[in-house]
Amino acid sequence: MSEKKELYTLAAQQLTEFMKGKITRKTPERFEILRVVCQISGIFSIDELQEEMEKKATFKVSRVTLFNTLKLLEEAKLVIKHCLSRAALYECCVTPHPMICLVCEQCGKIRKLESSKIENWLSEQKCKQFVITQPVLYFHGLCRSCMVKNSIKNRKTKTKTKIQKK
Ligand SMILES: [Zn+2]
Repeated sequence: MSEKKELYTLAAQQLTEFMKGKITRKTPERFEILRVVCQISGIFSIDELQEEMEKKATFKVSRVTLFNTLKLLEEAKLVIKHCLSRAALYECCVTPHPMICLVCEQCGKIRKLESSKIENWLSEQKCKQFVITQPVLYFHGLCRSCMVKNSIKNRKTKTKTKIQKK
């Protein structure tokens, strides 16, 4: 079995377990969305998930179903919702593990930072009267492409003011 398939099997078990005794129905759409979510590596938006669904899903799902299922997967702790940029971003996370995210304040993109040193530190953290279920650390700043864009913009305005001065 491939890694992604194994991840889906585990996630599907957890979702079935989560839905036991709940009013929510165990629809095939939900499991199909979960299957596609498990295949995406990294952070994704609802638009990107819709694109992936069109490519990989065996049947069509409405945007409302996508939205509601993401909410359900979030409650089932199978997906993390990053509410930092203009639009909400999601990430498949079947087994909780520490993560470090770099958030660009200009374009809103989130990139992952791999650092075993910080990850280890994160997993060791304990709080009084608070149980940490998912340690996530966010760094806010500027991404490389936005930095390049800004420097080009700055150069253009500088040359403009120079021309105006002459
Ligand atoms: Zn950026």
